[in-house]
Order: sequence, then C-alpha cells, then structure tokens
Amino acid sequence: MMWDRGLNLLIHAPYPAIPDPKTVLGPCTGEDKTFKDRRTTIMSHFEITHKDSAGRIGRLHTGHGRIETPTVMPVVNPNIQMIPASELTKFGAEIVITNAYIIYQNPELKEHALDRGVHSLLDFDGAIMTDSGSYQLSVYHDIDVSSEEIVRFQQMIGSDIGVPLDIPTPPDVPRERAGSEMKTTIERCEAAHRLMGSDGRACSMLLAGTVQGSTHPDLRYECARSLSKIGFDVYPVGAVVPLLVNYRFADMVDVIVASKKGLSPAAPVHLFGAGHPAMFALAVALGCDLFDSAAYALYARDGRYLTADGTYHLADLKYLPCSCPVCASHTADELRDEFAGGNYISLAEHNLYATFEEIRLIKQCIIEGNLWELVERRCRAHPRLLDGLKRAICHTGWIERFDPIRKSTFFYCGSESASRAEVRRFAERLDRFDLDGTVLIRTRKIRGEADRFDCMLNLKAPFGAYPVELGETYPFNAEVPESSEPDYEAASVALGNVLRLIRLNPDAMFTVVCEWKHPLLIEIGACPNVGEILSSNK
Ligand SMILES: [Zn+2]
Repeated sequence: MMWDRGLNLLIHAPYPAIPDPKTVLGPCTGEDKTFKDRRTTIMSHFEITHKDSAGRIGRLHTGHGRIETPTVMPVVNPNIQMIPASELTKFGAEIVITNAYIIYQNPELKEHALDRGVHSLLDFDGAIMTDSGSYQLSVYHDIDVSSEEIVRFQQMIGSDIGVPLDIPTPPDVPRERAGSEMKTTIERCEAAHRLMGSDGRACSMLLAGTVQGSTHPDLRYECARSLSKIGFDVYPVGAVVPLLVNYRFADMVDVIVASKKGLSPAAPVHLFGAGHPAMFALAVALGCDLFDSAAYALYARDGRYLTADGTYHLADLKYLPCSCPVCASHTADELRDEFAGGNYISLAEHNLYATFEEIRLIKQCIIEGNLWELVERRCRAHPRLLDGLKRAICHTGWIERFDPIRKSTFFYCGSESASRAEVRRFAERLDRFDLDGTVLIRTRKIRGEADRFDCMLNLKAPFGAYPVELGETYPFNAEVPESSEPDYEAASVALGNVLRLIRLNPDAMFTVVCEWKHPLLIEIGACPNVGEILSSNK
C-alpha cells in the first residue's frame, strides 16, 4: 500500500446513545463584507452524540452547515478538478479542503476568490477548509507569504475553517529543533487567534491550531496543551504524512495519543494528510474526527484502486471487489482500458466511494459499540497496521477513560482482544468481589455443584472468574471461540485474574475446574486456599 499527503459488519443489539457535554469553542459572529456571498452568522461548536473506544460521532457547525464527523474532506485542487467539487456530495462529502496558498499565488484564482469567495471559485455550496501552505513549506522550505497574510486571506475568501502557517516538523528530528519549530507554530497560531479576535471574530471562519512536535510525544503533548489554552475551533495533528508514507503506524498512534492527551476530549481533531481508508478505523478509535484525502485522485492517477483492506494495482485486478456504482457498471478490463486511454475518473470515483463507505461503516460501528472489533479486523490488512494496533493496546488505559461501560456484545477477534478496555476494566475491579465459604471457579457446569458450593463463578477467557448470574450481561456474554481452547494470551489474562482473585480472598476455599493447558494453573494450584484443580471432563 502507498500513502500520500492530503494531498463487514456484525450487527448487534443497539445500545443507547451516550450523551456527552457540548462544548462551545468560542462564538463567531458578525459579517465579512469583503465579498458578497451566502454567509451565515454562526455559533461555532462541536457536539459529540455517540462514543465508542476513544472515537465518537460528532457535529461540527460551520458557516456552511453542520458536518457530521468522523468524515473525510476530499482535497480539491483549485487548478484542476478531476471530479468537480459540486459532484463530491454524491459520494458523501459534506466538506472539502483546498489550498489557500495555491489560490493566493495565482492572480486569476486570487481575484475570483477575493471577488466572489472560495465557494464560488470551487463551485461548492458546502463547508470548505483551506490549508495555509504549510505543505509547500515542508516541500520547498520557503514560501512568500506570512502566516498573518495567509490567515487574513483565508478570512477574506470566506473559508469555513482556516489554518495558520504552522511549521510541519518531520519525524525523528532532534528534540531541540522540534521544540524550537513547535514554539514558532504556537506563536503563529496565537497571532492568528489575535487576528481573529481583533476583528471581533468578524467572520464565520473557524480557526485551526495545528499540533506539531515531530515524533516527540512530550512535545506533541506540550504543543496541544498550549494551543488548547489559547482555544481553537479545530485541532489538526500535523506532519504525520511521512509516518503514513513509511507505514509507521505505531509511531502515528503515539503521535495521536500524545496530542489528544493535551487537548480537551471535546475538541474536534483532524489527522492532517491521512486519506487511506485502511487506517481510518484505528485513527477514529483514538479520537480523530476529520481526515483529508488527496489519495482518491493521486492513487487513481497512478492506477491504484483503494479499499479498506489495502490498495490494488489496476493491472493486478481480474475482478472488482466492490459494488459501488462504478464497479457495478464496469469490469476490471473496462476500468483498465479507460485508464490506459488516459481517463482515470472512474477509478477516482471508485476510490471516493470506497473512502466514504468506510466512514459510514465506522459510524455504524460506533453506534453499535463495536468500533474496536472493526479496528482489530482492519489492522490485519497489513503487518505494520498490526504494529499500530499493538501500540494502541499500550494505550488501553487512556482509551478506557472514554470507552462507554455498557455496549453491545463483546466479540473476541484474536489475541489483541485480550487487551481491550473491557478486559482491563474488569481486572481493575477484581477487589470488589468479597468471597468466603466454598467457591467453585469453572469453565463449565459440574454435576451437583449447587449443593456442594456456596458460590459459583464462571471462568471465561479473556476475563477470568465472575458470578454465574452475570453470564448473560455485558461484557461476560462475549462471543468467544467455543470449539477450541482460548488463545494463550486470553488464557493468560483470565488465569492471571483468577490468581489475583484467589489471593484477594484468603478466607474462601476454592475449587477450580478448567481443561485448559496453561502454566498459571500450577501457580493457582499452589495457593493455600485452593483445594483442587480438576479437568471438567473428569
Ligand atoms: Zn467500487
């Protein structure tokens, strides 16, 4: 799979929406008289309506309507529109992103935008975010506009979300450089914020404050905290493209989590430059709300066919594994012929359909409460994504803070499920069990158990032991493999929890019935308050 800079669902019983406090990120009132366009006086704010893991469905209010997040902003090149911006809504786009610096540099585009606004320039009625030229700065190292000028320009052309000219510090640079560039970014963001304030927020443009700090988590955190104190409407996490291009998903996870930790949980977060559907689920589960995609066009130009499971080269496709309108009306040969003839619009359209299909699936998973299961499946598409998943598991303690306590059925999808927030939460609450008398811990019922024991606990991986009465409640009603022993990881977590439970209750006398083969059973058997360990088929 290749990545570029911005440029199967299991349905369970529904669970009630978890309300979340709204956040008002600063009112934006008044009118910009620079050009005559449909402008709305708005109260800018972001509300969260549903949550799952650290992901959420939200509503971002802009001068051109309400955007439901998570979503992707297709990148629109103001010079060449492969797919006209006015047609992007049919794929699911509610907001697009374009580059203010490109418009600023081109006298013709600049005049149109200043005269009639960026919405007229792109012929798009929905919300438009504008990038400031930071990308050009990262490529050419110098551009001929100041941050103030480009922010002011974004205001003047009627951008719905504007971005100051931050410094996109690449990964792995020395801490000193990352820290000094981060300071410049914060200063420029602060100046942009003052600029908006000096106008009495005299336009409806939301202002983004981009989190930088390279691959130094402490700097990302510090930057996010500083920007948060100033107060922006949207927080892009910047300069992650080099990580994506090099499949460094584990580092991407660290950058996102460090940035998120410095921000209010209620703030909308944009993973700047991330546009491949294969990583959306992971990024959303970590709390990213906005993505931007130039990938749909850049990949198409290269003959590449996007799916949420990775990228195919058109040359390798015998069949089209998709049912979007393009794939339903083309064979792989036809798509290849079009491409060979220099027409890659159908391929770009498929790429957009595949991109928004994944976003809709992610939102449905959030509603159903099984986003993490989607993440576990998606991260099996590439070994480096699996690295990303494993790194995310290292942050389970943080994710757990946002994860709703009650959800739909827990589906065990592989050894990583043993590290899920629900399992960790159960382990943390083991000391709530107060046991005495004779206690049976068993993987399945044994004859006459009710007469022989004061208390009976189910043993189920990856949780451990819990009262049989809770067997049908969440999360213990988990769907786990039945015809085989649990994975070693799942059994380790479960038996580790059993061992702790036994040690926490020295006055109880335990009998354990378990047919698994695992070294922890020996340790459990050595506890003074364990009578015997039986295999259930005895
Ligand atoms: Zn398709």
